[in-house]
Amino acid sequence: AKEAAPTSKQVLFDFQMDAEINRRQQLQRDLRTALEDNELTLAYQPILNLQSQSVDYFEALLRWKHPIYGNLSPLEVIEVAEQYGLAHQLGCWVIDESCRQLSEWRAKGFDSLSISVNISPSMYRMDLSGTINDALSKNGLAKGSLGIEVTEDTTMQSIKEADKMLGKLIEEDVSIALDDFGTGLSSLSHLQQMHVQTLKIDRSFIHDIVSNPTSSALVNNIIAIGHDLGMKVVAEGIECEEAAKILTNYFCDYGQGYLISKPLAPKDVLPYLSA
Ligand code: C2E
Ligand code: MG
Ligand code: MG
Ligand code: MG
Repeated sequence: AKEAAPTSKQVLFDFQMDAEINRRQQLQRDLRTALEDNELTLAYQPILNLQSQSVDYFEALLRWKHPIYGNLSPLEVIEVAEQYGLAHQLGCWVIDESCRQLSEWRAKGFDSLSISVNISPSMYRMDLSGTINDALSKNGLAKGSLGIEVTEDTTMQSIKEADKMLGKLIEEDVSIALDDFGTGLSSLSHLQQMHVQTLKIDRSFIHDIVSNPTSSALVNNIIAIGHDLGMKVVAEGIECEEAAKILTNYFCDYGQGYLISKPLAPKDVLPYLSA
């Protein structure tokens, strides 16, 4: 039988697929070089203690300005890294660079600061606590100086494996936050069993907290559940005063979002803290 001629829709689809694959392969090649040439950077977003109004720590966020594509979303960069076996190297770079930066800030007198880094799924398949310990000691930092953020889906992929790893990290005094809480697949019983000290409520629950009573009730209850489980709670994506006020009244421990500050370039962090 003769094959049907492709429709114009099909041609467009194929074209887009090709473009997507080309972009990925290009990014993969360039990411290898960028890692070697130290072209990646981290931005640091303050996490505000809502009760004391002080900044205790920063979240490190990956930044890469690609020579052709410009600023890339860290989510795309991580996806490419995972797909092409670069996630481990990239994750180690983020951990190393965060420790180097932290020790620099501490040496300048900001000695109670800490940093929290995001961990991608494949980091579980290696010796994460060893990597963190090495980076800490190389930079003269005490245990407990670095925290990590994992997502529900990361931990759901292999609950047993992840739990073992997380337990080991806690023994090493690495604090663990469950990121984007509420968007993943984990259940409350999973949450109860998990070794995490901090719950980060995803910004999709926060963004309409002012206008939507259902959202605010939900958030109020998530905070209460977190506290019942002995966890600290962070609200992500706070963009207005009113939301911050509601969250503070709900006894939410920490807040993060554009209202407090956008992620900062490294050189802007100490001026921010001194302002
Ligand atoms: P995340 O860990 O949930 O990080 C918070 C994201 O929300 C950041 O986006 C931050 O810029 C953004 N954000 C903060 N406040 C607000 C706000 O008020 N409004 C809005 N609309 N957005 C806000 P970013 O930097 O684009 O990072 C996106 C995601 O990429 C992160 O989400 C994290 O999952 C991942 N990621 C970033 N850096 C790394 C990294 O070094 N390693 C890994 N594995 N993942 C990373
Ligand atoms: Mg995070
Ligand atoms: Mg998050
Ligand atoms: Mg999020």
